[in-house]
Amino acid sequence: MKVTVFCGASFGHNPVYQQAATELGQFFAQQDIELVFGGGHVGLMGTIADAVLEAGGRVHGVIPEYLQSRELAHEGLTTLEVVADMHARKARMAELADAFVALPGGIGTLEELFEVWTWGQLGHHAKPVVLYNVNGFYDRLLTFVHSLAEEGFIKPAHSDMLQVVDNLQALLTAVQHYQAPANKW
Ligand code: AMP
Repeated sequence: MKVTVFCGASFGHNPVYQQAATELGQFFAQQDIELVFGGGHVGLMGTIADAVLEAGGRVHGVIPEYLQSRELAHEGLTTLEVVADMHARKARMAELADAFVALPGGIGTLEELFEVWTWGQLGHHAKPVVLYNVNGFYDRLLTFVHSLAEEGFIKPAHSDMLQVVDNLQALLTAVQHYQAPANKW
C-alpha cells in the first residue's frame, strides 16, 4: 500500500508535530506502507521521510524541478521523481496514492488536502482522505468546515468524506476501511 502524506515544509513551534511525524513514519515502515510525499528534506516533510527510512521502510518523493534545483530535495530517498511543476507533482502524488493523509502544515498542506478532498467529492477518485489532527491542530478549521454544511455549501456525506483521526490505529482503520459516498453530481 502507498499513502501520500501532505505536511509542513516547516516544523511548527510545538515539538509535538515533529514527534507525530516521526511516529507516523515509523508506523508506516512497521505496516509496510510506502510513503509518497513532496520529496523535500525540510520541516515535517524531512522528519517523516527520515523516520520511514531509518525504520527500514520505503519512501517515494515527487518534486518539481525548480525546488530540486534549489537543493530542497531529500537526497536519501528510496526513489525521487523530478517533475515539471507543482501541477504535475500533485497529479502524480494523487495517482500513486491508495490513500491521503494530512499532518499539520501551512497553506501548501491545506491546498493539497482540499484538492484531493474536492476530487473525491467529484468522483475523480474513491480514495480515503484522512486528517491527522495532532494536538487538536485542525480543530478551528473543522469548526469552519462544519459551518459549510450548516450554510448549505457542502452535503453532510461529502463533509464526512474527510476522516478525522487523532491516533495511529484510527488512522490505519480510516485508510483501510473506507467507502466512498455517491458523487456530488
Ligand atoms: P506548507 O504546508 O506551506 O509548508 O507546504 C508544504 C506542502 O507544500 C508539502 O506537502 C509539499 O508538497 C509542498 N512544499 C512546500 N514547500 C516545499 C519544499 N521546500 N520542498 C518540497 N515541497 C514543498
